[in-house]
Amino acid sequence: MKLDGLKFCVVGCGIGGLAAALALQQRGARVTVFERAAALAEVGAGLQISPNGMCVLRALDVVSDTPALGQRSYGTVLRDYRNGRVISRLPGPKAGPTYYYHRADLLDLLHKAAQTAGVDIRLGACVAELRKHPTEVELVFESGEPLRADCVIAADGGRSTLRSSLNGSETPVFTHQIAWRATIPWQEAEAEPRAALTMGPCRHVVTYPLRDQSLMNIVAIEERSDWQEEGWRKQGDPDDLRARFADFGGEVRDILADVEEAHLWALFLRPVARTWQDGRMALLGDAAHPTLPFMAQGACLALEDAWVLARCFDDHSEMSSALAAYEAARLPRAERIVAAAAANARNFHLQGPKRIAAQLALSVIGPHLSRRYEWIYGHDVTA
Ligand SMILES: Cc1cc2nc3c(=O)[nH]c(=O)nc-3n(C[C@H](O)[C@H](O)[C@H](O)COP(=O)(O)OP(=O)(O)OC[C@H]3O[C@@H](n4cnc5c(N)ncnc54)[C@H](O)[C@@H]3O)c2cc1C
Repeated sequence: MKLDGLKFCVVGCGIGGLAAALALQQRGARVTVFERAAALAEVGAGLQISPNGMCVLRALDVVSDTPALGQRSYGTVLRDYRNGRVISRLPGPKAGPTYYYHRADLLDLLHKAAQTAGVDIRLGACVAELRKHPTEVELVFESGEPLRADCVIAADGGRSTLRSSLNGSETPVFTHQIAWRATIPWQEAEAEPRAALTMGPCRHVVTYPLRDQSLMNIVAIEERSDWQEEGWRKQGDPDDLRARFADFGGEVRDILADVEEAHLWALFLRPVARTWQDGRMALLGDAAHPTLPFMAQGACLALEDAWVLARCFDDHSEMSSALAAYEAARLPRAERIVAAAAANARNFHLQGPKRIAAQLALSVIGPHLSRRYEWIYGHDVTA
């Protein structure tokens, strides 16, 4: 179906919303993105974009074959928490390299590409409600102003407001996982930059370099029961972080010693949405499938969603059948990846004899482990 002149509204100016806006605009739609935040500010944090996400960024012309600003990964080192002993070295996916991005850099690349393509981006515009009409959808903003569109894409994140218009009200569940995030200056550049995953009982720490290895990104996850509210982020106390990971030795201890500012995320989840679309509006990214970050796939899935959504309009003559095809194509894959991430939450935090047995197994199968996930990394939605 031709999108020329059709009016699309995308709610949410995150990675998913911007990628979808760009993909739709490139097909001739008139796209406006509404973002409730007054500015596109990002706290220091990294993102791993594996080959399945990179191919979308390339197809959208956001990055080239040798992406600027991204730091190419040469695999992951698995370490034991006590002294940092190397358990195994995992090569990168066979499908191609993963890149480490500063989240602000990736958002900036997408933002510039979308603006250059003609997407209208409006900040400080919070959508409060969605009303359905026979041939249009109406967005109602917090300011009270209404606006009509031919199609609405709800990319409003894991705490999506618009998701309830398709799935009813759902209470998010605290996963008992807390993510600490920080960046520190980093000079000890390795020739071949790698991520390190250091696993201990009920906790793990992931580190990887950003921006030409001048920064080290840190994600420290701990299991905790004492969190009540679903907040996106909170300022954390670096001394508290160090105390909670005090029994982690080796490299992690040195890295945490340098943390001067940290933020905490309580990881709340809703299930993968049962209904993603109704013929005039569709969910995309975390709004459709919030996931634990333990496969590093949330942003990659949002990029895949964006490409598949736009491509479905090429293949179908009606909006309703295009959106139905999008839902059918994406829901099973999102469910499978969300389940794989949840399984890693258990695998990374093993204790006692189970941890020792898992480490022994990893020392043997580690170098071949990425094959097990080729269905994730080798999936090229742009092919
Ligand atoms: C600790 C951690 C580490 C992670 N690491 C990785 C990784 O390495 N690789 C990876 O692929 N993924 C990773 N993720 C997941 C990734 O960050 C998310 O999946 C991704 O950002 C989701 O993008 P999105 O566009 O769907 O939503 P978001 O990025 O949440 O964007 C939603 C946007 O919508 C706006 N919004 C919300 N409500 C409204 C409204 N009513 N009106 C207007 N605007 C609204 C919000 O302000 C926001 O800007 C990680 C997540 C965490 C927590």
